[in-house]
Amino acid sequence: MHEALFYTKLENQTVRCDLCPWNCILKAGQNGFCKVRKNTDGKLITHVYNKVAALGVDPVEKKPLYHFFPGKNILSIGEVGCNLRCNFCQNHRISQCRASDFKGFHEITPEEIVTEALKTYNNIGIAYTYNEPLTFYEFLLDTAKLAKQNGLKNAVVSNGYINPKPLKELLSYIDAFNIDLKAFASEFYLKQTKGKLEPVLETLKFIANSNAHLEITNLVIPELNDDEIQFKKMVQWIASELSCEVPLHLSRYFPQHELSKSPTPVETLEKLYDIAKKYLRHVYLGNVSDEKRSSTVCSNCQTTIVTRNRYDTLLKRVDSGGLCKNCGTSNNIVY
Ligand code: SF4
Repeated sequence: MHEALFYTKLENQTVRCDLCPWNCILKAGQNGFCKVRKNTDGKLITHVYNKVAALGVDPVEKKPLYHFFPGKNILSIGEVGCNLRCNFCQNHRISQCRASDFKGFHEITPEEIVTEALKTYNNIGIAYTYNEPLTFYEFLLDTAKLAKQNGLKNAVVSNGYINPKPLKELLSYIDAFNIDLKAFASEFYLKQTKGKLEPVLETLKFIANSNAHLEITNLVIPELNDDEIQFKKMVQWIASELSCEVPLHLSRYFPQHELSKSPTPVETLEKLYDIAKKYLRHVYLGNVSDEKRSSTVCSNCQTTIVTRNRYDTLLKRVDSGGLCKNCGTSNNIVY
């Protein structure tokens, strides 16, 4: 039993969770929308502290993070729970599971995770990923603090659905984020995820104005968010409100969970890629084999500096500081 951060006690043992935009008001015994935080006798308790549902070593490219220590590994952990209800969720077995229903938890402390990360080969740190990591905020924060003390990097892969105050506290410890921008339409968010677009945009702006590295993933789903006009507005917004240097990953959808539409045609991804490249310097296709559109090209001299095919990464023209070996441009690569 671990008491949650960011909640307010109200009358008659009722509490309000202040972690994410749902701001769930919970009577004693009630679970939050995310299924992992519960009002227990007037206290908000997180039921996923010290509990890991998935742990593995992944290439950092798999998060996906293409401009953050390319070619390195990152120890990745996930739990259960999510504060959105995407009907296309690619990880629904853990994200949509109630903490009390999950049978495969591995009990582990932040100290044990950090020890594991320190002895993992070619590893830069810890990624909080697989389910929605902001729903295990307290465990994430404690692990990230300890990791930082030990010289490790922290990366969060998230839907960005969090309130500003807890995000601000987290930012001091997180080195990189990959945030899903699932569409650029409020109706899409309401209908397909049950959440709202606006808080995600606020999160993106907040991170872009911090010292943390930011990349964005957009899962392209046929007919739901592949409209070219809407997509163009999205990439224009990224360029003007965040930066044209923010890497954008266009990921191919495959049928999962409640959505049975056919996979995204590769031609659709290629068309959207061409639109995005007019506004953003670094755009990638994911979930497809396309070395050309997965590799990093220097935005100044057009030299291919990192080649990728799926998770095979080769640093061809990147120096030890992450700069292009040909012309010295940074290309927003953290290395
Ligand atoms: S984190 Fe969970 S309990 Fe808290 S407001 Fe969000 S959905 Fe509700």
